[in-house]
Amino acid sequence: MATALKLVSPEEKVTSFVSRKHKMLINGKWVESASGKTFPSYNPATGEVMAQIAEGDREDVNRAVEAARHAFESGPWPRLTPSERGRLLWKLADLLEQNLEEFAELESLDNGKPLKTARVADVPLAVDLLRYMAGWATKIEGNTIPISVPYTPGARYLAYTLREPVGVVGQIIPWNFPLLMAAWKLGPALTTGNTVVLKPAEQTPLSALRLGELIQEAGIPDGVVNIVPGYGETAGAALAAHPRVDKVAFTGSTEVGKLIVQAAAGNLKKVSLELGGKSPNVVFADSDLSSAIDGAASAIFFNHGQCCCAGSRLYVEKKIFDKVVDGVADQASKIRVGSGFEPSTDMGPLVSKEQLDRVCGYLESGFAEGAKAVVGGSKIGDKGYFVKPTVLVNTNENMKVVREEIFGPVVTAMPFDSPEEVVPKANNSEYGLAAAIWTRDIQKANRLASQLRAGTVWINCYNIFDAALPFGGYKQSGWGREMGHEVLEQYTEVKAICSAM
Ligand code: ADP
Repeated sequence: MATALKLVSPEEKVTSFVSRKHKMLINGKWVESASGKTFPSYNPATGEVMAQIAEGDREDVNRAVEAARHAFESGPWPRLTPSERGRLLWKLADLLEQNLEEFAELESLDNGKPLKTARVADVPLAVDLLRYMAGWATKIEGNTIPISVPYTPGARYLAYTLREPVGVVGQIIPWNFPLLMAAWKLGPALTTGNTVVLKPAEQTPLSALRLGELIQEAGIPDGVVNIVPGYGETAGAALAAHPRVDKVAFTGSTEVGKLIVQAAAGNLKKVSLELGGKSPNVVFADSDLSSAIDGAASAIFFNHGQCCCAGSRLYVEKKIFDKVVDGVADQASKIRVGSGFEPSTDMGPLVSKEQLDRVCGYLESGFAEGAKAVVGGSKIGDKGYFVKPTVLVNTNENMKVVREEIFGPVVTAMPFDSPEEVVPKANNSEYGLAAAIWTRDIQKANRLASQLRAGTVWINCYNIFDAALPFGGYKQSGWGREMGHEVLEQYTEVKAICSAM
């Protein structure tokens, strides 16, 4: 006899946190917005308003930037020993880990993702990232440089470099991994001694606000991290343009990334961008087909396809095309779509009504241009923002569904004959974030990996992330890298010091 699955309810502390009127964190105080305005956060599984959040705008951003400036210029943060800074970040990681279940639930409620995913991916990855970055605090080193200086013959110098924090950093993050993106941004900024104004996405502000409480509990001094929730065109734009912000770090769409670059031009603040993608996933006939099929399905359906590196263009060698497409379609048809809190759910709702409309708009455009859905192809029901996992065939490089980032559970499958044919097709995109190759031929895999114009290439795997592994884009997928030691370069200035001896 089948047993009915028990629907998990949020913990009491989660429901009581969500139902609060949420304020913003400026200079160590939780304050209302200057305008007194609030904005709603919706539960994507029901479409109902779940919480009211203080709505940050220009004036709030001004206050937060001044707090961050003061903390940078007069506060204790950059003057703490590196070891002390590292310990505070480690403490934050410990606190996050101790509250793992609470954060997983918040993330599932606000974003819609399955609770079981947030438990094993979002929160543990954020904890690990903070620990990895805490370790770097004591290892931000410069060089000693032997110099020759032809126009001062006989003179001797001691020359060396220091790596110093950039200053006040504005960080604007998206809604697909709200907590993890906050950790990706805060970890490297803080370990190198910067101070921060963080703007979470308007769709998913809750976990960042709760993280703000842990930041205080960890003992990170007032003003070092300020959190201003609000809309992109108001709070986000004010932060990107602010003349007293030294750097802006953004993750989101390529379209908004270009606006950030323009806004940053006023004071030529440093910019790092992690933007969109349309990642090719290339399956050869000599691959282990069962893992390639599993990998191709999870490459696009993980997090409902709401990943900038989603494997959304599936290229399959012609002789196994039908087999792979049928395999991926079969997996898609077995994905249980439902509320993120239902233990059996594999895929939750999309994050918002806009996102649902956007994905459905792409499906319509695909069908109008001749694409066919082997599975899926429409939304589910009228409550919440659910869409069917979809595999499209009869697609080609000229179609919008193949060229543009859909950011939903929709993959376009296309056949190819040879490596020589597939590489230019895979590279035929304005994006260059990630790519994957499935083959047992290691030489072919490594040759293709070097030919693909992407910041990450996975071989016989997909969506493998680690705090130590740099992630970011070629072409219009971004500027700079997240994670690894590469990200530290984006949060430090190099000072050359030359001393006569
Ligand atoms: P999406 O289209 O998937 O919502 P966006 O790129 O619009 O992704 O959003 C990512 C982040 O950028 C969010 O925090 C959003 O508020 C912010 N944002 C949107 N528009 C702007 C803008 N003009 N200036 C600064 N930030 C913005």
